[in-house]
Amino acid sequence: MRGERKSEEEIAREKMRQAVLCAFCSIMQTTRLRPMMVLRLAAQAVGAIYKEVATVHRHADTCPCGWEPRADADVEALQIAIATAAAVQPVSDLRWLKIAGRA
Ligand SMILES: [Zn+2]
Repeated sequence: MRGERKSEEEIAREKMRQAVLCAFCSIMQTTRLRPMMVLRLAAQAVGAIYKEVATVHRHADTCPCGWEPRADADVEALQIAIATAAAVQPVSDLRWLKIAGRA
């Protein structure tokens, strides 16, 4: 049943969400920081990880994957990803999502 199998990207997305959610909950339970501050820390972590990975890829022979970082476009893509995932969907869209999730 190929249609029922999750794609590699879907599996990775859920794994990443769980990892960040776990860190978020842990910090919320052990500090007095407000949710928005903790979410900002998560966004800063993503930015810092981007910088580290991009730096490694600017030097030849460090990774064979061939990715060439372009800071402006890459950071814009990350910003769009946050905005898209955080966007509040109209109720009708949420109903559609529920149905799609069961299919
Ligand atoms: Zn690479």
